[in-house]
Amino acid sequence: MTSVQARATGALEVRGLEAGYGKIQVLWGIDLDVAEGEFVAIIGANGAGKTTLLRTLSGLIAPRGGSVSAFGRPLRGLSAARVVRSGVGHVPEGRQLFPLMSVRENLDAGADYLPAARARAGRNRAFVYELFPRLLERERQLAGTLSGGERQMVAIGRALMSDPRLLLVDEPSLGLAPALSASVFAALEQINADGVSVVLVEQNVHQSLKLADHAVVLETGEVVLRGTGSELLSHPRVREAYLSL
Ligand code: ATP
Repeated sequence: MTSVQARATGALEVRGLEAGYGKIQVLWGIDLDVAEGEFVAIIGANGAGKTTLLRTLSGLIAPRGGSVSAFGRPLRGLSAARVVRSGVGHVPEGRQLFPLMSVRENLDAGADYLPAARARAGRNRAFVYELFPRLLERERQLAGTLSGGERQMVAIGRALMSDPRLLLVDEPSLGLAPALSASVFAALEQINADGVSVVLVEQNVHQSLKLADHAVVLETGEVVLRGTGSELLSHPRVREAYLSL
């Protein structure tokens, strides 16, 4: 076996990633590794580029430079639909559900055009309802009439219906009461325990670092700190800037 074959394949390998909008460059040379089964947190102030990073990884924004691969296969240049087919699910900021469709229809939309995921829709839906029993109770309710917490559950559930091996999750606790936000974090922990690698962008720095195997701090589009979750929880710069301690 050559050394290349012998290397363990990571869930995600990002090297020198550059991206932006029009004349504005937002991401500058991002390097990020996520091993299979790992939980990685990305923290940073508003406008640091966290959402832009997740959107670039999932093929919604075309990168300007650098490389991205998931499970050993290059993603750069693939459409968002192909990225999903490569096993990368995205729970977008703001949930972005179809308000006039039911909970069940929104969930099933996550497996649309994905023959392999459609074949596993029954198993995946059962997993989503086990994670969020409230969604089973509200299966026929229109998504637009759900509470913020329930919408977040549907957004996570919809991404799980695409049968991901890596889940990119953007600000899931935004606007949620503490109890609901705790149940969203518990669900992410359970998804990760089920074998799905997770990349989590969160304003709730304390909770996300507690869950994270490792984490990076993004400032003005660059990684300025990296370490294990517990290293960053006790890092003076993180405590001062993000934990108000
Ligand atoms: P937040 O926590 O507030 O969501 P963020 O770290 O996710 O912030 P981004 O949303 O990635 O940051 O934004 C990074 C920069 O890119 C900001 O300066 C923002 O104004 C700019 N930006 C984001 N989306 C667009 C867009 N569609 N067009 C132009 N500029 C954009």
